[in-house]
Amino acid sequence: MEHIQSFFSLTRLNSFGIDVKAKYFCKANAIDNILSVLDWQQKQQTPLLVLGGGSNVLFTKDFDGLVLQNALKGITLEKEDDTYYYVKAMAGENWHEFVCYCVEQQYQGIENLSLIPGNVGASPMQNIGAYGVEIKDVFESLEAIHVQDKHIQVFQHADCQFGYRDSIFKNALRNQYIILSVTFKLRKQPIYNTSYGNIEQALEQMKVTTPDMASIAKAVIQIRQQKLPDPKVLGNAGSFFKNPIIPDQLFEAIKLKYPQIPGFPISQTNTTKVPAAWLIEQAGFKGFRLGDVGCYPLQPLVLVNYGNASGEAIYAFSSNIIERVAKEFNIELEREVNIY
Ligand code: FAD
Ligand code: NAP
Repeated sequence: MEHIQSFFSLTRLNSFGIDVKAKYFCKANAIDNILSVLDWQQKQQTPLLVLGGGSNVLFTKDFDGLVLQNALKGITLEKEDDTYYYVKAMAGENWHEFVCYCVEQQYQGIENLSLIPGNVGASPMQNIGAYGVEIKDVFESLEAIHVQDKHIQVFQHADCQFGYRDSIFKNALRNQYIILSVTFKLRKQPIYNTSYGNIEQALEQMKVTTPDMASIAKAVIQIRQQKLPDPKVLGNAGSFFKNPIIPDQLFEAIKLKYPQIPGFPISQTNTTKVPAAWLIEQAGFKGFRLGDVGCYPLQPLVLVNYGNASGEAIYAFSSNIIERVAKEFNIELEREVNIY
């Protein structure tokens, strides 16, 4: 039987740095470990929470069950054809280290996703995305184990129902599967995406005239380091809310009062994506701090723990933001971070 620890502190296992405990905790390094821990958990009839790097969770209380940290390791080139490399990474691989490995090997397509915290296993959960790329663009398949009957299932692209920071694993199949590995389909020939945000500006500053994977990754890393708080220094879980996608009609109505509202029309849907950061700033929260909770001054979409904030306090702060934004703009912000 795997080593199961009791009343285990999760403070170092969540990027908000919230001081909570798990009733039981186990770190699994092999699929057999996961299977035997699931047997134990079912006998105990105790709730289960699967954790990766803990960079997209907010704990509002102790977890009264088993926290299973998925630490499966390994990266393999499964096959290749004329156009693609098919690269399989186990769930416990660190995402950014995986991106760096792909950059080194010239496996193209995820360089824009540099420096996103967390592990490979969580990447399909919310279809991680940044700077114009989402993992759905490079996703081939994943393997996951069903937590009840313990069979291993392969999910193809269409099975995952990827959406904007969304997938079937956050919805209909929530808490039902443990993702074991993800296979990515990475291009042999580059199609660089530098048009987003200030990547081009950063490349210019770096004096790069012919961008390649490595220089794009470097530019993204630089931009992120300048704008986002490092969770090792200031607890946070990245964007706390999703950027809302609203009907064009509502967008036009808001524009009458706020002509400067930024928006990105989503083609053929009559909807527009509005940066949540802008809405939060207009609602007066940019840089606002209450006790040890605040909106990060350089990016108000990121809520931060300035010291010893509780999960409950951060949650209450986020409810306050939701309320104020709804009142001012008639837009209901949705939390991106998983609340426990
Ligand atoms: P965790 O926080 O451990 O888990 C997240 C959810 O997935 C939980 O519900 C958990 O139960 C579930 N889960 C984890 N692993 C598994 C598994 N193997 N099987 C089944 N369920 C699992 N996200 C973006 O999309 N784009 C960004 O640019 C971005 N930038 C960020 C910047 C900062 C500074 C921070 C702190 C976060 C950022 N994030 C971003 C959010 C976060 O990094 C991603 O969501 C990441 O994929 C979370 O990975 P994790 O391993 O830490 O997941
Ligand atoms: P930003 O570049 O200031 O952009 C703010 C907003 O505008 C985001 O909603 C972004 O959408 C949208 N946007 C900007 N340019 C766009 C374009 N050309 N087409 C469509 N939409 C556009 O954002 P940022 O805060 O500095 O973050 C940079 C990138 O990293 C973004 O992609 C962001 O999603 C990602 N990021 C995510 C997290 C997280 O935790 N989820 C944390 C930090 C950064 P998108 O969000 O769809 O890109």
